[in-house]
Amino acid sequence: MKPFNFIQPHHIKDAIKSKKRDAQYLAGGTNLADLMKKNITQPDTLIDINKTDISDTIEKKGQSIIIGALVKNASVAENLIIKEHAPLLSKAILAGASQQIRNMATVGGNLLQKNRCPYFYDTTAPCNKRNVNSGCSAVNGDTRYTALVGYTKDCIAVFPSDMAVALSIYNAKIHCITKEGENQSLDIHNFYCLTNDNPIADNILPVNAIITSIEISIPFLTKNNSYVKLRDRDAYAFALVSVAAALDVKDDTIVEARLSSGGIAHKPWRWYEAEKFLVGKNPSFEIYKETADLIVKGINPPKTSTFKIPLLRGAIETALMQAINL
Ligand SMILES: Cc1cc2nc3c(=O)[nH]c(=O)nc-3n(C[C@H](O)[C@H](O)[C@H](O)COP(=O)(O)OP(=O)(O)OC[C@H]3O[C@@H](n4cnc5c(N)ncnc54)[C@H](O)[C@@H]3O)c2cc1C
Ligand code: SF4
Repeated sequence: MKPFNFIQPHHIKDAIKSKKRDAQYLAGGTNLADLMKKNITQPDTLIDINKTDISDTIEKKGQSIIIGALVKNASVAENLIIKEHAPLLSKAILAGASQQIRNMATVGGNLLQKNRCPYFYDTTAPCNKRNVNSGCSAVNGDTRYTALVGYTKDCIAVFPSDMAVALSIYNAKIHCITKEGENQSLDIHNFYCLTNDNPIADNILPVNAIITSIEISIPFLTKNNSYVKLRDRDAYAFALVSVAAALDVKDDTIVEARLSSGGIAHKPWRWYEAEKFLVGKNPSFEIYKETADLIVKGINPPKTSTFKIPLLRGAIETALMQAINL
C-alpha cells in the first residue's frame, strides 16, 4: 500500500477544505481499505470524517426520518423509528454483509461503495471503470455480478448496495455539502449513473462533496413489504438478484405498489410499469406471476447474466407473496 497522510478534522468544513484531488474521506473503511490494499485507489491523504460534526443519529422530524451519514448500518437496522416507519430498510440492511461489517459500515459509505465486478478488483485485467478505454473484461468473461438492464458494452457491472434498493422504494433524498459550502439535496432515483456516457462515474455526488444525511418521508407502506435477496451464500455475499416490494392494500385491492431490484443494474432499479399494473388488482399468485412475466418480457441481458432471468422471476413472485402473506 502506498504511504499516506492521515488527518482527523473536527468539522465538516475542515474536512471539505482538506479534500484535494488525491485525498479520500474515510468513514467505516470497509470498502475503502480493500481498494487501497489492492492499489485500486491510492490516496495521498486519508481524511477520517468520524470525529466531525456529521450526524451519527436517527431522528424523526415531522413527517420525515433523517438518518445521519455516520450512522452505522447495524444501528439503522436495529433502530426503533426505522423498524416502525421504514421496516423495509431494516430488512434490506440485515440481508447484507455480516454483523461485523454492518457494525463498521456507515450509511454514507454504503451509498458510495464501489461495484463488485471481479475484473474491477483485478488490476491486471482491462476494465473501463478503472482505466477508461482499456476495455471491459466482463463482457466476454466469467462473472456473476453483471447487469440485466440499463447496461452498455463498455461496462456491465451492477451497484451492490442492499440499503440503496430499500431507499429507492422510499424515494429517499441524499443531503450533502459541496466544496463551495452549499447544501444540496439529491433524489436517489437520479443519484446513480448508468454506464452510458462515462463508465467511471458511479453517481452524481458533486466532486469533493460530503454526504451529511439521508431523508425519507413517513408514514408510508409500513405493513405489507418484503426484501428477497438471492445470493451464493446465506451471509457475507452480495445479491445476484434482490427485490424489494411494498404494497398498500385496501378492501382486498392493491391501491399502491412499489417494486425495486438490486444486483441487476448500475443503480437500484424501480419497476414502474409493473407497479402500475398491480394497482387496482386483487392480490393473488396469478397476478404476481403476470407481474413477473411483464417484467422479464422486455429484458435482453448480456450472455453472462442470462441465468439471472429465472432468479429475478422467482424473487419478484416471492417478494410479492411475502409482502401480502398469501
Ligand atoms: C465481505 C463484504 C461483504 C459485503 N456484503 C455486502 C452486502 O451484501 N450488501 C451491501 O449492501 N454491502 C455489502 N458490503 C459493503 C459494505 O456494506 C460497504 O463496504 C460499506 O457499507 C461501506 O461503508 P463504509 O462506511 O465502510 O465506507 P468506506 O469504505 O469508509 O467508504 C466508501 C467510500 O465512500 C466514501 N465516503 C464514505 N462516507 C462518505 C460521506 N459521508 N461523504 C462522502 N464520501 C463518503 C469514501 O471516501 C469511499 O470512497 C460488503 C462488504 C464486504 C467487505
Ligand atoms: S463490467 Fe465494468 S467494472 Fe467489470 S470489467 Fe467491465 S468495465 Fe470493469
